[in-house]
Amino acid sequence: MKIIKTVEEFKEIRKTFGDKSVGFVPTMGGLHNGHLSLMKRAIAENDISVASVYLNPTQFNDKKDLETYPANFADDCALLEKAGVDYLFAPTYPVMYPDDYAYMLTEKRFSKELCGAKRPGHFDGVLTVVMKFFNIVRPTRAYFGEKDYQQYKLLDGMVKAFFMDIELVPCPIVREENGLAISSRNRKLSKEGLALAPKFHEILASGGSEEEIAAKLEAAGFKVDYVTIKDNRIYAAVFLEEVRLIDNLER
Ligand code: AMP
Repeated sequence: MKIIKTVEEFKEIRKTFGDKSVGFVPTMGGLHNGHLSLMKRAIAENDISVASVYLNPTQFNDKKDLETYPANFADDCALLEKAGVDYLFAPTYPVMYPDDYAYMLTEKRFSKELCGAKRPGHFDGVLTVVMKFFNIVRPTRAYFGEKDYQQYKLLDGMVKAFFMDIELVPCPIVREENGLAISSRNRKLSKEGLALAPKFHEILASGGSEEEIAAKLEAAGFKVDYVTIKDNRIYAAVFLEEVRLIDNLER
């Protein structure tokens, strides 16, 4: 696996790809089996696979969340190498934001709901950084997890709104055997937190109104950020030991 750190170098290498298909998986590091499932598909369905590891500060509204994000670059490289990824793009802030975030991409409707209502500016940061990645990597296909379903929908809308020739591939949520959606942030939970966390998914799957589910979550020991049913899907975010967990299910 070749590790590339600058836009100039990536663009030079990109020229050598010619007509080959390119599968791309953007991540913030702290890689786990959820990320790995996206990598496997990108490798299987394309001639060339590219991953990025970049902890994007512009999508963090909470500074403490950014500072305590559990990621280790050496571990991430080892996992990507083992998976068989061809290229890893691992930039820094000055590389990604030569404009110091003077320019941003905004969506005015859905990005203000659900997680967007609770994390002001979050989806501006996500859309902006992914647009930048798409312009650098120029992927044929890009893979996103349904764990962040609102993010996937917003990126799908962006690709359509800007007539971008990129196929977005939504990938199913990878869960622990106990139902807990795998997340880098799960590593921040204590042993007790990890024992309670699977209840989040269990309660979401149990049916009932938004209010009933929120009440069940609170009774179980979660602090509810939101529970919303929209377009045959239930979305929720909760805090457990100050760690923000999200999940969603079709219903
Ligand atoms: P992140 O590093 O959290 O930005 O995630 C990078 C990509 O991996 C995003 O498209 C996520 O939706 C996806 N992802 C993260 N966790 C999971 C999971 N448990 N199952 C499926 N996809 C996931």
